[in-house]
Amino acid sequence: MKLIMLGSGGFIPTEEAQTACYMIPEHGILLDAGSGLFRFSEYLQTESLDVYITHSHADHTSGLFYLFGGFFKHLMGGAVPPIELERFQETMRAANQSLSAVRIHADESILPKLKDSYYPGMVWCALQAREELPGGGRLTHFLCHPAHPEIGFRLEWPGHSLAYITDTVAMPAAAYIEHIRGVDLLLHDCNGPDSSADIMAMVNHSHPTSVAQVAADADVKRLMLIHKNPLNWEITEDLPAARQIFPYLEIGYDGMEVEF
Ligand SMILES: [Zn+2]
Repeated sequence: MKLIMLGSGGFIPTEEAQTACYMIPEHGILLDAGSGLFRFSEYLQTESLDVYITHSHADHTSGLFYLFGGFFKHLMGGAVPPIELERFQETMRAANQSLSAVRIHADESILPKLKDSYYPGMVWCALQAREELPGGGRLTHFLCHPAHPEIGFRLEWPGHSLAYITDTVAMPAAAYIEHIRGVDLLLHDCNGPDSSADIMAMVNHSHPTSVAQVAADADVKRLMLIHKNPLNWEITEDLPAARQIFPYLEIGYDGMEVEF
Protein backbone atom coordinates (compact mmCIF):
# COMPACT_ATOMS: atom_id res chain seq x y z
CA MET A 1 0.00 0.00 0.00
CA LYS A 2 1.28 3.47 -0.83
CA LEU A 3 1.09 6.73 1.10
CA ILE A 4 1.93 10.03 -0.62
CA MET A 5 3.01 13.07 1.37
CA LEU A 6 1.07 15.88 -0.29
CA GLY A 7 2.14 18.28 2.44
CA SER A 8 4.74 17.46 5.08
CA GLY A 9 5.01 20.89 6.70
CA GLY A 10 3.25 22.63 9.55
CA PHE A 11 2.15 26.08 10.65
CA ILE A 12 2.49 27.85 7.28
CA PRO A 13 3.39 26.60 3.80
CA THR A 14 6.88 27.20 2.44
CA GLU A 15 8.49 26.75 -0.99
CA GLU A 16 9.62 23.32 0.22
CA ALA A 17 6.73 22.09 2.30
CA GLN A 18 3.00 22.62 2.03
CA THR A 19 1.06 21.99 5.23
CA ALA A 20 -0.31 18.70 6.50
CA CYS A 21 -1.94 16.36 4.02
CA TYR A 22 -1.21 12.65 3.47
CA MET A 23 -2.95 10.53 0.84
CA ILE A 24 -3.52 6.83 0.28
CA PRO A 25 -4.63 7.05 -3.36
CA GLU A 26 -5.82 3.48 -3.91
CA HIS A 27 -8.43 3.90 -1.18
CA GLY A 28 -9.18 7.61 -1.66
CA ILE A 29 -8.12 8.47 1.88
CA LEU A 30 -6.64 11.79 2.99
CA LEU A 31 -5.25 12.38 6.46
CA ASP A 32 -5.67 16.07 7.24
CA ALA A 33 -6.39 18.76 4.69
CA GLY A 34 -3.66 21.38 4.90
CA SER A 35 -2.43 23.38 1.92
CA GLY A 36 -0.78 20.27 0.41
CA LEU A 37 -4.25 19.01 -0.43
CA PHE A 38 -4.16 20.94 -3.71
CA ARG A 39 -1.91 18.18 -5.09
CA PHE A 40 -4.55 15.45 -4.68
CA SER A 41 -5.71 15.77 -8.26
CA GLU A 42 -2.40 14.36 -9.51
CA TYR A 43 -2.99 11.14 -7.59
CA LEU A 44 -6.76 10.77 -7.75
CA GLN A 45 -7.80 7.17 -8.48
CA THR A 46 -11.19 6.85 -6.80
CA GLU A 47 -14.74 8.09 -7.33
CA SER A 48 -15.02 9.33 -3.75
CA LEU A 49 -12.68 10.69 -1.09
CA ASP A 50 -12.66 10.32 2.68
CA VAL A 51 -10.82 13.08 4.51
CA TYR A 52 -9.98 12.49 8.18
CA ILE A 53 -9.20 15.62 10.20
CA THR A 54 -7.08 15.60 13.38
CA HIS A 55 -8.00 19.11 14.55
CA SER A 56 -9.27 22.42 13.25
CA HIS A 57 -6.07 24.48 12.85
CA ALA A 58 -5.69 26.07 9.41
CA ASP A 59 -2.50 24.16 8.63
CA HIS A 60 -4.61 20.98 8.81
CA THR A 61 -7.80 22.21 7.15
CA SER A 62 -7.18 25.17 4.82
CA GLY A 63 -6.73 22.85 1.84
CA LEU A 64 -10.45 22.08 1.94
CA PHE A 65 -10.76 25.27 -0.12
CA TYR A 66 -8.85 23.54 -2.93
CA LEU A 67 -11.11 20.53 -3.38
CA PHE A 68 -13.21 22.17 -6.08
CA GLY A 69 -10.15 23.47 -7.95
CA GLY A 70 -8.42 20.11 -7.69
CA PHE A 71 -11.41 18.29 -9.18
CA PHE A 72 -11.72 20.94 -11.88
CA LYS A 73 -8.05 20.56 -12.84
CA HIS A 74 -8.34 16.78 -12.82
CA LEU A 75 -11.42 16.86 -15.03
CA MET A 76 -9.89 19.33 -17.48
CA GLY A 77 -7.13 16.77 -17.98
CA GLY A 78 -4.53 19.24 -19.19
CA ALA A 79 -6.75 20.76 -21.90
CA VAL A 80 -5.71 24.26 -23.04
CA PRO A 81 -7.56 26.88 -25.07
CA PRO A 82 -9.25 27.00 -27.43
CA ILE A 83 -11.87 25.19 -25.34
CA GLU A 84 -15.57 25.26 -26.04
CA LEU A 85 -17.45 27.37 -23.51
CA GLU A 86 -19.97 24.57 -23.03
CA ARG A 87 -17.27 22.08 -22.16
CA PHE A 88 -15.79 24.53 -19.66
CA GLN A 89 -19.17 25.03 -18.02
CA GLU A 90 -19.87 21.32 -17.99
CA THR A 91 -16.51 20.69 -16.28
CA MET A 92 -17.38 23.27 -13.63
CA ARG A 93 -20.66 21.48 -12.98
CA ALA A 94 -18.90 18.13 -12.81
CA ALA A 95 -16.30 19.51 -10.36
CA ASN A 96 -19.08 20.78 -8.13
CA GLN A 97 -20.75 17.40 -8.37
CA SER A 98 -17.50 15.72 -7.30
CA LEU A 99 -17.62 17.65 -4.01
CA SER A 100 -20.68 15.66 -3.02
CA ALA A 101 -18.52 12.51 -3.15
CA VAL A 102 -16.12 13.91 -0.54
CA ARG A 103 -16.79 12.92 3.04
CA ILE A 104 -15.08 15.01 5.72
CA HIS A 105 -14.72 13.09 8.97
CA ALA A 106 -13.95 15.07 12.11
CA ASP A 107 -14.76 15.05 15.78
CA GLU A 108 -18.28 16.36 16.27
CA SER A 109 -16.97 19.17 18.51
CA ILE A 110 -15.28 20.83 15.50
CA LEU A 111 -17.66 19.85 12.70
CA PRO A 112 -19.94 22.93 12.88
CA LYS A 113 -16.95 25.29 12.77
CA LEU A 114 -15.41 23.49 9.80
CA LYS A 115 -18.71 23.36 7.98
CA ASP A 116 -19.16 27.12 8.40
CA SER A 117 -15.62 27.85 7.23
CA TYR A 118 -15.50 25.81 4.03
CA TYR A 119 -17.69 24.82 1.07
CA PRO A 120 -21.06 23.39 2.00
CA GLY A 121 -20.97 20.92 -0.91
CA MET A 122 -19.12 18.14 0.88
CA VAL A 123 -20.60 15.50 3.17
CA TRP A 124 -19.79 16.23 6.81
CA CYS A 125 -19.50 13.20 9.08
CA ALA A 126 -19.01 12.92 12.83
CA LEU A 127 -16.04 10.64 13.33
CA GLN A 128 -17.14 7.22 14.55
CA ALA A 129 -15.22 5.12 17.07
CA ARG A 130 -14.52 2.65 14.31
CA GLU A 131 -14.60 3.71 10.67
CA GLU A 132 -14.73 1.05 7.99
CA LEU A 133 -12.21 1.70 5.21
CA PRO A 134 -12.20 0.51 1.59
CA GLY A 135 -10.21 -2.66 1.09
CA GLY A 136 -11.38 -4.25 4.34
CA GLY A 137 -9.59 -1.82 6.63
CA ARG A 138 -10.60 0.20 9.67
CA LEU A 139 -9.65 3.51 11.21
CA THR A 140 -9.71 4.21 14.92
CA HIS A 141 -8.89 7.46 16.68
CA PHE A 142 -7.78 8.57 20.12
CA LEU A 143 -6.87 11.73 21.99
CA CYS A 144 -3.13 12.36 21.82
CA HIS A 145 -3.14 14.17 25.15
CA PRO A 146 -6.04 14.48 27.60
CA ALA A 147 -5.64 18.28 27.82
CA HIS A 148 -5.57 18.92 24.04
CA PRO A 149 -8.14 18.43 21.27
CA GLU A 150 -5.81 16.86 18.68
CA ILE A 151 -6.63 13.28 17.83
CA GLY A 152 -4.40 10.60 16.41
CA PHE A 153 -5.37 7.96 13.85
CA ARG A 154 -4.59 4.29 13.46
CA LEU A 155 -5.44 2.67 10.12
CA GLU A 156 -5.25 -1.06 9.61
CA TRP A 157 -5.77 -3.46 6.77
CA PRO A 158 -4.77 -7.10 6.73
CA GLY A 159 -0.98 -6.89 6.38
CA HIS A 160 -0.74 -3.06 6.46
CA SER A 161 -0.95 -0.58 9.32
CA LEU A 162 -0.25 3.09 9.81
CA ALA A 163 -0.54 5.63 12.63
CA TYR A 164 -0.57 9.41 12.33
CA ILE A 165 0.29 11.71 15.25
CA THR A 166 0.58 15.45 14.83
CA ASP A 167 0.67 18.59 16.97
CA THR A 168 1.57 16.57 20.02
CA VAL A 169 4.42 16.42 22.52
CA ALA A 170 6.17 13.04 22.32
CA MET A 171 7.00 11.95 25.83
CA PRO A 172 7.75 8.74 27.69
CA ALA A 173 4.66 6.83 28.75
CA ALA A 174 2.35 9.00 26.63
CA ALA A 175 -1.09 7.40 26.68
CA TYR A 176 -1.29 7.27 22.89
CA ILE A 177 1.67 4.88 22.68
CA GLU A 178 -0.67 1.95 23.29
CA HIS A 179 -2.83 3.05 20.36
CA ILE A 180 0.04 3.08 17.87
CA ARG A 181 1.78 -0.05 19.09
CA GLY A 182 3.35 -2.24 16.44
CA VAL A 183 2.25 -0.30 13.33
CA ASP A 184 4.20 -0.75 10.10
CA LEU A 185 4.51 3.00 9.60
CA LEU A 186 4.31 5.86 12.08
CA LEU A 187 4.01 9.45 10.86
CA HIS A 188 4.89 11.63 13.84
CA ASP A 189 5.15 15.37 14.38
CA CYS A 190 8.73 16.60 14.71
CA ASN A 191 8.69 20.36 14.50
CA GLY A 192 12.03 21.39 15.99
CA PRO A 193 15.49 20.25 17.08
CA ASP A 194 16.35 18.73 20.43
CA SER A 195 17.85 22.08 21.46
CA SER A 196 14.32 23.57 21.28
CA ALA A 197 12.71 20.88 23.46
CA ASP A 198 11.32 23.43 25.91
CA ILE A 199 9.82 25.53 23.13
CA MET A 200 8.40 22.44 21.43
CA ALA A 201 6.71 21.43 24.67
CA MET A 202 5.22 24.92 25.01
CA VAL A 203 3.78 24.92 21.48
CA ASN A 204 2.57 21.30 21.61
CA HIS A 205 5.12 19.80 19.22
CA SER A 206 7.93 17.26 19.31
CA HIS A 207 11.70 16.99 18.74
CA PRO A 208 13.68 14.08 17.24
CA THR A 209 15.00 12.07 20.18
CA SER A 210 11.66 12.19 22.00
CA VAL A 211 9.84 10.94 18.89
CA ALA A 212 12.44 8.21 18.39
CA GLN A 213 11.84 7.11 22.00
CA VAL A 214 8.09 6.94 21.42
CA ALA A 215 8.65 4.89 18.23
CA ALA A 216 10.93 2.51 20.12
CA ASP A 217 8.52 2.21 23.06
CA ALA A 218 5.61 1.58 20.69
CA ASP A 219 7.64 -1.03 18.81
CA VAL A 220 6.66 0.39 15.41
CA LYS A 221 8.49 -0.79 12.30
CA ARG A 222 9.24 2.54 10.59
CA LEU A 223 9.08 6.21 11.56
CA MET A 224 8.65 9.26 9.35
CA LEU A 225 9.17 12.66 10.92
CA ILE A 226 6.60 15.15 9.64
CA HIS A 227 5.19 18.65 10.35
CA LYS A 228 8.37 20.35 9.19
CA ASN A 229 9.05 23.70 10.83
CA PRO A 230 8.73 26.61 8.37
CA LEU A 231 11.36 28.73 10.17
CA ASN A 232 14.27 26.60 8.94
CA TRP A 233 14.76 24.98 12.32
CA GLU A 234 16.90 22.06 11.17
CA ILE A 235 16.57 18.66 12.83
CA THR A 236 19.19 16.79 10.77
CA GLU A 237 21.94 17.25 13.37
CA ASP A 238 19.85 15.34 15.88
CA LEU A 239 19.26 12.33 13.65
CA PRO A 240 22.34 10.29 14.69
CA ALA A 241 21.27 10.48 18.34
CA ALA A 242 17.66 9.73 17.43
CA ARG A 243 18.74 6.72 15.33
CA GLN A 244 20.66 5.37 18.34
CA ILE A 245 17.27 5.14 19.99
CA PHE A 246 15.25 4.08 16.95
CA PRO A 247 17.20 3.27 13.76
CA TYR A 248 14.39 3.12 11.22
CA LEU A 249 13.57 6.79 10.94
CA GLU A 250 13.51 9.24 8.05
CA ILE A 251 12.44 12.81 7.50
CA GLY A 252 9.32 13.06 5.37
CA TYR A 253 9.16 15.54 2.49
CA ASP A 254 6.59 16.74 -0.01
CA GLY A 255 6.09 14.24 -2.79
CA MET A 256 7.58 11.36 -0.79
CA GLU A 257 5.96 8.03 -1.58
CA VAL A 258 6.08 5.49 1.23
CA GLU A 259 5.21 1.82 0.84
CA PHE A 260 3.85 0.18 3.96
ZN1 LIG B 1 -0.06 21.76 12.75
